[in-house]
Amino acid sequence: MALQIAIDRDAVIASPGATEEVVVTPDLSILRLAIVNVVFHGQPDCGDRGWVLIDAGIAGARGTIERHAARRFGEGTRPAAVILTHGHFDHIGALEDLAEMWDAPVCAHPAEVPFLSRRQAYPPADADAGGGLMTLLSPLFPRSPIDVSNRLMPLPGDGTVPHMPGWTWIATPGHTPGHVSLWHASRRILIAGDAVITTAQEAAYNVMTQEPEMHGPPRYFTSDWDAAEQSVRRLAELDPETLLSGHGPPLRGPEVSRALHELSRRFRDVAVP
Ligand SMILES: [Zn+2]
Ligand SMILES: [Zn+2]
Repeated sequence: MALQIAIDRDAVIASPGATEEVVVTPDLSILRLAIVNVVFHGQPDCGDRGWVLIDAGIAGARGTIERHAARRFGEGTRPAAVILTHGHFDHIGALEDLAEMWDAPVCAHPAEVPFLSRRQAYPPADADAGGGLMTLLSPLFPRSPIDVSNRLMPLPGDGTVPHMPGWTWIATPGHTPGHVSLWHASRRILIAGDAVITTAQEAAYNVMTQEPEMHGPPRYFTSDWDAAEQSVRRLAELDPETLLSGHGPPLRGPEVSRALHELSRRFRDVAVP
C-alpha cells in the first residue's frame, strides 16, 4: 500500500506569473513563503482595516508579508485582525512585529491562548516521527511561547470569524489543542491550517518541490493523534471544493474531497507515525 495520497496536478491552483502569491478567489489569496503559507482575506479595494491576515509565517517573513499586503490592499492599509489557525513557530514568526506595526487584534481559539501569552510551551517535537530531514531537524525548531496577550481576542463562541462574513471557525484539535480551520459553507472553501496539509512537510525535498499530496498534520509537531483523526474526519465530511492549507499548494475541484475522504479512511496507515 502506498503510504501517501497523491493528488492530480490539475487540482493545483497556480498563479499566472511566477509570483509566490496565488489568487484563489478575488477576495482570497495565499502567499507561499519558503516552508509555510499565509492567507490574505479581503477584496483588493477594501481599504484600511478592511482585510484580514490568516497566520503570520516564520520569523523573517515580516517584510515579505508587509510588501504583499501593501501591493494587494494599498500602501499603509492595515488589517482588521490577524486570525491564527494555531500558534506554532512557523505560523506566528512575524506576528509580534506585524501586530505591533498594524496595531491589530490577534484572534485565536481559547485553548491556544496559553501558547500565545507565554504561559505554556508546546510539547517537544517528535524526532522519531519519520518522513525525512524536516523531522530530524524538528527538535531545533522554536517552540517557546510568544506573548501577544495584550492583543489577544478569543474567537467568538458562536462560530463566526471576526471580519470575515460568511465564514465559520471549526475546532480541529490534535495538531495543537486549540487548532482551528476556517470554512465558508456556501462557497465550500476550507482554510485548514495544519489539520491537513497538501505536501509532505516532513521531507525537506518535498517542501522544496511541493508535489501535491494529501497529508495529515506535520508529524513531528502533532500531539494528539486521536483528536487529529477526528478533525480530519470532520473536515472530510464538509466536502470542500477548495482547500488552502498551511503547507503545500492550494487545491480546487473534486480531488479535494476525494483525497480528504481517502485520508480520513486510511488515517492510521498514512498519517500517524
Ligand atoms: Zn503546526
Ligand atoms: Zn505549520
